[in-house]
Amino acid sequence: MDNNTKVVKQAKQKKINKIKIILSTIALSSCLLLGGLFLNMDKMAGAAKIDNNKEIGAFMIHEPTIKYGFVLDTFHVTQSEIQANQFLSDLLLQYKVDYIDIDQLVQKTNDIFDVRNFRVGKPYMILNTDTTTAADYFIYEPSVYNYLVYDLKNHSVEKVEREIITKIESAAGIIESSLWQTMIDNNLSFELTAEMEDALAWSIDFHHIQKDDRFKLIYERHYIDGKPVGIGEIKGAYFKNFDNEFYAFYFENDVHSGFYDLEARPMEKAFLKSPVKYSRISSRYNLRRFHPILRRTKAHLGTDYAAPYGTPIFAVADGVVTKATRSRGNGKYVKIKHDGVYQTQYLHMSKFGEGIKPGVHVKQGETIGYVGSTGLATGPHVCFRFWKNGRQVNHLKEDLPPPEPMPKKDIPRFNVLKDTLKKQLDMVQFEIKDKEPISSGEQVLEQDSTASSNP
Ligand SMILES: [Zn+2]
Repeated sequence: MDNNTKVVKQAKQKKINKIKIILSTIALSSCLLLGGLFLNMDKMAGAAKIDNNKEIGAFMIHEPTIKYGFVLDTFHVTQSEIQANQFLSDLLLQYKVDYIDIDQLVQKTNDIFDVRNFRVGKPYMILNTDTTTAADYFIYEPSVYNYLVYDLKNHSVEKVEREIITKIESAAGIIESSLWQTMIDNNLSFELTAEMEDALAWSIDFHHIQKDDRFKLIYERHYIDGKPVGIGEIKGAYFKNFDNEFYAFYFENDVHSGFYDLEARPMEKAFLKSPVKYSRISSRYNLRRFHPILRRTKAHLGTDYAAPYGTPIFAVADGVVTKATRSRGNGKYVKIKHDGVYQTQYLHMSKFGEGIKPGVHVKQGETIGYVGSTGLATGPHVCFRFWKNGRQVNHLKEDLPPPEPMPKKDIPRFNVLKDTLKKQLDMVQFEIKDKEPISSGEQVLEQDSTASSNP
């Protein structure tokens, strides 16, 4: 085994299964202390990268450049990106690897990575010890989470998972105009906004948030080589909507993993508040509405959610599809029976979800169709109709059935977690206005665990 292979092997051994965070064991003060410490370490690491040649005494010491586990200084290195219509064979032929070797390589490595899955724009690197002969290694990086090392001489490939550092961070914001604008103003990602909506979707009608509403979040953020690459789980959330305060805590048990409130009640309800994400209500349930197409007063027995064409429409609760058909007024629509009392109906779809037809069982949150404007519709939206005992009612005014409670035996464990998270949430500060926007929003609370699995 040569040195280069050894380094790769070591990188592989770093694979540690994702360690679940036990926040309850960490005192808050030490979290904040640790946060500060790691922030400083990041800065130090950044500074060290600036110059590879360090002067120690009178001697210049050259630090080796290591990438993908190889000491690059010992190779001729070519780095580029996959071009349109570029195949592995085209690429490797340029580096003197012959057809027979390429063919063998593809055959022997296809079950680890199918070379047809190379994507335009993704980075690759060729390593060659002697440019007069065939290249030694081809490295391809399909995502920030892992890369593939092709050993061209031995016709083998290794998939190396990168080490992910998970940090627990916090964020806070006060709504000025919209939630999205607030997230942008606070330098928070689309992904985090979406996660927050998921965490609180059952308690907060995000179509009804207003100026001065506020939120705080404690969440996991993944880093690779010091760069943020994604959001993990939201651990705790706080939202103040009008005068109502909500807390949500993520908790896992045998029965159900999800968000629970201060009293250990599941936040998820038997019914979702709306059948589409990131939409806006364009017309409410109204018994005396003036119909824009028919041009006369006609009761509007549903709630319209405007969203772009093709936006997925979800079943708001578990049930059985009773209709997936088309009519002149409704366009393409789906109707679902949930139990003896409730049915829901989704109109004006552009198309049905895969396999959606009468008799099929659907789960809450499953895609049953896509937003369109079939039937009598002026633009893309879903008209959502909620049936109770055979009558159409306004679902936003309904007191819907509660979900299954948390098993009693889990409550003490939940309470420990809840107390810690609540303390942390209460300590998160809102941004003071007229501050540099970059420094706002996020605070690192704690450096957490390492993981190398795909999240
Ligand atoms: Zn409607």
